[in-house]
Amino acid sequence: MNVYFLGTGTSQGIPVIGSNHSVCQSTDLKDKRLRVSVWIHWENHSYVIDCGPDFRQQMLVSNCQKLDGILYTHEHSDHTAGLDDIRPFFFKQGDIPIYGHQRVLANLKLRFDYIFQIENKYPGAPSVHPIEVVNNHPFQIGNKRAIPINVMHGKLPVFGYRIDDFAYLTDVKTIDESEISKLKNLKVLVVNALREEVHHSHFNLSEALDFINLIQPEKTYLTHISHIMGFHEQVQQKLPKNVYLAYDNLEITI
Ligand SMILES: [Zn+2]
Repeated sequence: MNVYFLGTGTSQGIPVIGSNHSVCQSTDLKDKRLRVSVWIHWENHSYVIDCGPDFRQQMLVSNCQKLDGILYTHEHSDHTAGLDDIRPFFFKQGDIPIYGHQRVLANLKLRFDYIFQIENKYPGAPSVHPIEVVNNHPFQIGNKRAIPINVMHGKLPVFGYRIDDFAYLTDVKTIDESEISKLKNLKVLVVNALREEVHHSHFNLSEALDFINLIQPEKTYLTHISHIMGFHEQVQQKLPKNVYLAYDNLEITI
C-alpha cells in the first residue's frame, strides 16, 4: 500500500496569504504545505482521506487517475471544501462513495445541497454515494478493512482511520483509552502536530511526541503543521528517531 501526502499544512496552508513570516517566505519546497490530506492506493484501489480546498491541485500533482472513495475525518472546511472537484472522477466513474460520521454527511448535504439533490439536478453537478461511518464498526474499502478511530478535536468527535498497519489521525487533541487500544503494532502512524505552543483543539509538538511514545509505532509522520512550527529542515533535526515531519508529495510504501 502506498500513502501519498497530498497536503500537510494546517487550515490556512503554508504560505499563508499575505504573510511575511520567514517560513511563509521560505524557498524550500518542504516548507510549502497544502491543506491536509493523503491519497492511499494499492493494486487497483484508490482512496483519499479528506478533500480540502486544494483537492484539485493535489489530484493534478499526484497524477491520481481514479478515485474509489473519500474517507472524511470531520466537516471543517480545510478537510471538505474541495468536494465539487470530484467532477472529473464522477464523469468517468459515476457516483463517488463518501464515508463519514452521520454528522459530517449531514453537514456536507447542507453545504453542497446541489450534489445531494436527486430531482432537477443540474447536469454538470457530481453525485456521491454517502456511507455512514459508525465507531467500532470497521468497513470495507476495496479488499481492505478500515477501522474508525474516534478522537477528540477539542469538543468535536473526529474519525481517524486504521488500514492494515497504517493509521491516520488528524486534528486530535485528546483520545480515549478504548481508542488507543486500536492502535497497537502499527508500522506507520500519521498524526497531527500543529506547532510548539499549546492549542485548544490540536496536539502541539510535545503532546504529539508523548502520544507517539505511548503508541510505539515503528515510524511516525507528523502532519497538519502551522508555519509557526518553524522551517522543515530545523524542526526535523529536533525530532526523535523514527519520527519525521511529513511534507507535501512525500510518498511512502507500507
Ligand atoms: Zn484541520
